[in-house]
Amino acid sequence: MPPAFKKAAAARLAARGGLIVIMLALWAAERPGAALGMLAAVSILEAFWILNPSTRFFGPIITQLPAGRGGVLVTIDDGPTPETTTAMLEELDAQQVKAVFFLIGEKARRWPELVREIQRRGHEIGNHTEHHPAKRFWRLMPGETWREIAQCQETLQEITGTRPRWFRAPAGHFQSFTHPALDSLDLRLMGWSCRGYDGTDADVNRVCKRIENRLKPGCIVLLHESRPSSVELLRRVLGTIREHGLKPAPPGALPG
Ligand SMILES: [Zn+2]
Repeated sequence: MPPAFKKAAAARLAARGGLIVIMLALWAAERPGAALGMLAAVSILEAFWILNPSTRFFGPIITQLPAGRGGVLVTIDDGPTPETTTAMLEELDAQQVKAVFFLIGEKARRWPELVREIQRRGHEIGNHTEHHPAKRFWRLMPGETWREIAQCQETLQEITGTRPRWFRAPAGHFQSFTHPALDSLDLRLMGWSCRGYDGTDADVNRVCKRIENRLKPGCIVLLHESRPSSVELLRRVLGTIREHGLKPAPPGALPG
């Protein structure tokens, strides 16, 4: 772990420790109501920030393309996987669209040829952690946060020869140690502004309708692979983008 990350993580841990000391002091001063009120307020605020995948509370995040660039950026999470990656690449080629694939490190190591194929066809590859701990990422301590992001970065660099520029948190639940790790690895956080909840809803019509309702110039669309409906959904979404007079934007439309 680089010293800059350790220092930033220690400062954040100290801030948490300071809050606990204040609560204990209030309790010791026989003001349990104030202590419990503070605990409740901090817990509610932290839950709100963690559950809000677009929050800027912890640090910068891109959820839209820069103003004036128009188009719609398609991003695809959770690959690679033999069940869907090749078919999704074929669909993107057929519609002449370039996307950003946020890949999971341990899957990339199992199917490195798929990662190279994504790269060979001109798509951008992003870091989506080594093991995709979607249910725990929001509460990981500094060491594990660092390992999840840094190991994936190493895995993808070994396979592709280049280091990803973008990171997406599993389920979008980043936390106070995420940005220090990203800063040390020269990564930037990407969220989204348009999603149809395809991770939890297998109904292509419903998912597509939700995406359609949120489509705007400059938006970043979140899709997933590894699911039975992934390829059909991608085809439908690309058609919907064009029906709305929008164009899929290449990853080159992202800030440099
Ligand atoms: Zn994911």
